[in-house]
Amino acid sequence: MQFKQDFFEQLEGFYSQVYPLPISNPHWLAWSDDAAKLIGLSEPNDELLMQLSANHAVPGASYYAQVYSGHQFGGYSPRLGDGRSIILGEAFTTKPTGEHSLAWDVALKGAGPTPYSRHGDGRAVMRSAVREFLASEALAALSVPTTRALAVIGSDLPVWRESQETAAITVRLAKTHIRFGHFEYFCHSNEGGKDKLIKLLNFTIAQHYPHLSQDYQGYKAWFTQVVKDTAVLIGHWQAVGFAHGVLNTDNMSILGDSFDFGPFAFLDTFKEDFICNHSDPEGRYAFGQQPGIGLWNLQRLAQALTPVIESDDLVAALNTYQAELVQQYLLLMRAKMGLGLGDLAVNTVDKSTSKLAELQAAQNKADLDFIGRFCAVMQHNMLDYTHTFRALGQLDIGCNNPNIADDIIDRPQFDTWFKDYQQRVVAGNNGKMVEIAAWQTDRNSVNPKYILRNYLAQEAIVAVEEGDNSKLVELHQLLTTPYAEHTDKQHYAERPPQWGQGLIMSCSS
Ligand code: AMP
Ligand code: MG
Ligand code: MG
Repeated sequence: MQFKQDFFEQLEGFYSQVYPLPISNPHWLAWSDDAAKLIGLSEPNDELLMQLSANHAVPGASYYAQVYSGHQFGGYSPRLGDGRSIILGEAFTTKPTGEHSLAWDVALKGAGPTPYSRHGDGRAVMRSAVREFLASEALAALSVPTTRALAVIGSDLPVWRESQETAAITVRLAKTHIRFGHFEYFCHSNEGGKDKLIKLLNFTIAQHYPHLSQDYQGYKAWFTQVVKDTAVLIGHWQAVGFAHGVLNTDNMSILGDSFDFGPFAFLDTFKEDFICNHSDPEGRYAFGQQPGIGLWNLQRLAQALTPVIESDDLVAALNTYQAELVQQYLLLMRAKMGLGLGDLAVNTVDKSTSKLAELQAAQNKADLDFIGRFCAVMQHNMLDYTHTFRALGQLDIGCNNPNIADDIIDRPQFDTWFKDYQQRVVAGNNGKMVEIAAWQTDRNSVNPKYILRNYLAQEAIVAVEEGDNSKLVELHQLLTTPYAEHTDKQHYAERPPQWGQGLIMSCSS
């Protein structure tokens, strides 16, 4: 691995240097070839295992934990920081042309205590390391913006949660570890102040938004971009059916990547108010709350930026959030459902821009309502979110007796919706029935057959506990190509068995 140390060298006072503590009897539990390529690694090897388990030093690494704060479940925690994650530096590869590739922070999550561990032990248990690994790589394969995971390293080091478990390390790759909470910390704490805030802002812009200037215009444009990236991220989650579970501002990447996975879930049965976090009985972070929480979190970030950016400009940027989210959500959902636009929203008589914008807005509203009705059908009939969309690709859209699920309870409701669906599909195809082969290929290329269902993760974890990581390896491989049929792996596409329905995970990880 080749490292640069920009954060470490340029942002003294924004972290503590701290060395990881080794885990005993380290062994690879999982490895992502796709993630490895990002930083120029090929195969896992013994020396790398010793390095990433903190038994040997990593050449070129700096080892530091960042300080930040954040709003957790609505309340402000003035000082959090990396309590169990130690960053090595920014890894990059050199292209044949001599140019550097995009750099990725390499972090060892679960590498021992840091000055920010508070009462924690600085460790991660195997089950949470495995879940973070799988979530990162599964979301990446679904084209959802996300941090990545290179590997999970198991050990025989005992750690205590509700009972004794073993420690593991997830090797996380992130374009940045800068969170909303970093800005909150340097705004609100005694160690902060306007100078520090500007330093952090300039660093963030230089590293990740090099086309923007480090001045007032640049800061405004930057915050507008953060609003957009966050909206796009949440648009992706709502379309793919992903609930993060702990959307505290310290778990919000400034780049709009899915970040810090705990009790997340992909939806099985569609339920708008599905809660996946055992510690969230009121459903603050329920699936359907995520769009609103994204905005709430951006408002906390905006508050932290008030020493640098005028409130009016912050508010103007925040006001773009909803439209950006809707645009992203519609883009993805129209593709999933085959709702073409064809000549819709284009008035052939009056092509003036204002008229066009009006028509498009009306079409967007109509489609949002229509997608909402589909969600209502799924919820009312307790349909599986992923199965239902995948079934659209098996559908003969022109037929009169469609079947997208064997278990529709309210047939009349479904039939009424389906007639409108046929009409909308035809209208979006300039009045013609769609060509069935293309329809099916298109649907199957955006509606995954395989998702990371909680029960599948759980089965893989139980097997690892029994000393067998083959299920984990198989599940990970499958999730890297989630749209393919994999006819020999059908069982991975099934709805959860009784014990695995609506699994709610705890935060103790
Ligand atoms: P999380 O809920 O995983 O995002 O963690 C929230 C905060 O608690 C972060 O500052 C973490 O670094 C810290 N934390 C979580 N688990 C541990 C642990 N086992 N030891 C030390 N700090 C932890
Ligand atoms: Mg966190
Ligand atoms: Mg965490």
